Amino acid sequence: MTDELRSPGRTTGELRGGGATAGELRPGAFREALVRFRHVYKIYRIADTGVVALAGVDFDVREGEFLAIVGPSGSGKSTILNLIGGLDLATAGVVEVEDRDLGRLPEGELTAYRRDRVGFIWQGTARNLVPYLTVAENVRLPAAARGMRVPAAARTTMELLEVVGLADRAKHRPGMLSGGEQQRVAVAVALANVPKILLADEPTAELDSGSAALVLDAFASVNREFGVTVVMVTHDLLAARRASRRLRLRDGQLVIEAAPIEPMSGDGRLRLPDEAIDALGGMDLEVEVRDGEVRIRRRGEGGGVRA
Ligand code: ADP
Ligand code: MG
Repeated sequence: MTDELRSPGRTTGELRGGGATAGELRPGAFREALVRFRHVYKIYRIADTGVVALAGVDFDVREGEFLAIVGPSGSGKSTILNLIGGLDLATAGVVEVEDRDLGRLPEGELTAYRRDRVGFIWQGTARNLVPYLTVAENVRLPAAARGMRVPAAARTTMELLEVVGLADRAKHRPGMLSGGEQQRVAVAVALANVPKILLADEPTAELDSGSAALVLDAFASVNREFGVTVVMVTHDLLAARRASRRLRLRDGQLVIEAAPIEPMSGDGRLRLPDEAIDALGGMDLEVEVRDGEVRIRRRGEGGGVRA
């Protein structure tokens, strides 16, 4: 059990995210885990003090998943997206995407990774689109930026606009569209380079619920129809419900909220919450009973983790 999960006042049900440990990695294994976080710490240094944004985070994102990361403001959600996107590097621990250790990539390869493998959608619509270009020109811009070396798998501008339901707005400028429509265009733009992963930071934060639902529809359809893995950060629980799985962050750590479960049978059988099954299913486990709490974890983690 790690020290960070032992802090007083916490109750039952807190489990670490799961997945193979670093020692079990093998080339090409990313079909099981496209993204791997292993004991990831991020500490921002400001003058003499350090702000701990992530305090030992472990999880996997499987290929083709639509994952939501939820948690209050300041809990480390954007930090996780920045690490997956290669915009920032972990202070300690390992962040792997498609079996690349992002912390060890030379700068040139990291730049190529950001450009070719990842699509970003930011909270404010202003950051996603160029206002004086039409919708279609915005969608074509990423290909232009990579010198027209359009990947073989590239979809046409109209295909991309169709999947987000905006084919009829191709000639409009962003200012003529609602906030939600602009975010859907941003989804199409982010897909233009055929990224492996779509990263969205609070994509519905500034939208009314109807527009938000349509943006979430757009994520769901690119996830389903193009097989793009989506990681969406949100503090909107309704939005998070549209994802196929949710991770919850609190103070830079992953937690699984305490939730009522069925009574334990006489021989000690109980059904864990789905999140715990996702995190721990199929693994060798061990159990610790202490102070009226039962903690279940991957076997061999009892030694704790130090940054
Ligand atoms: P969230 O997206 O969940 O609101 P963030 O990942 O942005 O949280 O931030 C997590 C913590 O790290 C916060 O305490 C925040 O103030 C701090 N933080 C984030 N980015 C920086 C930075 N560039 N410099 C210093 N502290 C930062
Ligand atoms: Mg944030």
